Amino acid sequence: MATARDDAADVAAVAVQVRGLTKSYGDVPAVRGIDLRIPAGEIFALLGPNGAGKTTTIEILEGYRARDGGTVTVLGFDPGRQRQRLKSLIGIVLQSAGVDRYLTVSETLAMYASYYPRPRPVGEVIEMVGLERKRDARVIKLSGGQQRRLDVAIALIGNPDLLFLDEPTTGFDPSARRDAWEVVKNLAHLGKTVLLTTHYMDEAQYLADRVAVIAAGRIVAEGPPATLGGREHARPRVRYQLPAGAAPRPGLGGPPDADGFTEFAPDDLTRALSELSGWAVSHEISLETLEIIRPSLEDVYLALTGDHTAEEPGGPQSEPSRGTGPQEGVRAE
Ligand code: ATP
Repeated sequence: MATARDDAADVAAVAVQVRGLTKSYGDVPAVRGIDLRIPAGEIFALLGPNGAGKTTTIEILEGYRARDGGTVTVLGFDPGRQRQRLKSLIGIVLQSAGVDRYLTVSETLAMYASYYPRPRPVGEVIEMVGLERKRDARVIKLSGGQQRRLDVAIALIGNPDLLFLDEPTTGFDPSARRDAWEVVKNLAHLGKTVLLTTHYMDEAQYLADRVAVIAAGRIVAEGPPATLGGREHARPRVRYQLPAGAAPRPGLGGPPDADGFTEFAPDDLTRALSELSGWAVSHEISLETLEIIRPSLEDVYLALTGDHTAEEPGGPQSEPSRGTGPQEGVRAE
């Protein structure tokens, strides 16, 4: 039997523990028995098509939505019964900001800092999200990407142990996205746990230690992005372009497509490449376009979620609106 000390050690090591989580809206199930275990310090991504149940799951973990069944522990607390105690320990980045647009960046953060018992210094957080040059700019003057950085800063100001990021880079340009990724990676280096949802597979691939794919309210696959769905065992395909009118040697490719590209999936990659290059040299064919292709995270994701369509539940149900911290409903959606 677990002792109190074991439990305390487990709380420190495990940020989120979910068993058999269920939630229905009316009589339509949105979450149908989800299990999750997220160790402290991990970046964990929830992937899944629209309506799969990601937001419902996250809102239950945050304490902003009641569950129907299952057990949930977040940083040692049950968010359903101990939301107040959890609030100052978690940070939430929502998809839509609701801050006073006439305050400056540093005024906004100072205001949010005052809601928390142990906030991070405002200047430090501004630096973490790369808004140093906008510190005295009014929120209304910030670009979309800069406002999202401010959203992240607001979530960080209370110095949370666990950060929820709901589609953190939607609407970002490619360089702002890269910057945001670095911010998230740095959070993990600080020992924070990050739970994010995203529809961008490259984001999950780059950021997440582990991902879970949710489809129609159930987890259909879970693991590190590199090995999800047995990705690392999939046979690689070899692809290259032939000159116009040329045909590949039998066994080294099928009929070329309109652009002259051919491909094949060899049993023995090393031997196939050796045969291919020998044949290409002897026929003076360039292999400049040669590619070795493994299924991407996106390929695996599409295969896993292809059969699942979102269910349409009944009418909307209301529950407490989500906020970034102890002050209730400051940033209602
Ligand atoms: P997305 O990627 O589009 O954000 P999601 O995976 O976050 O989707 P949820 O928002 O959790 O999905 O929705 C799961 C299901 O529950 C969907 O079918 C959705 O229509 C339904 N749903 C969500 N919130 C409510 C609500 N307040 N009232 C009724 N049904 C709801």
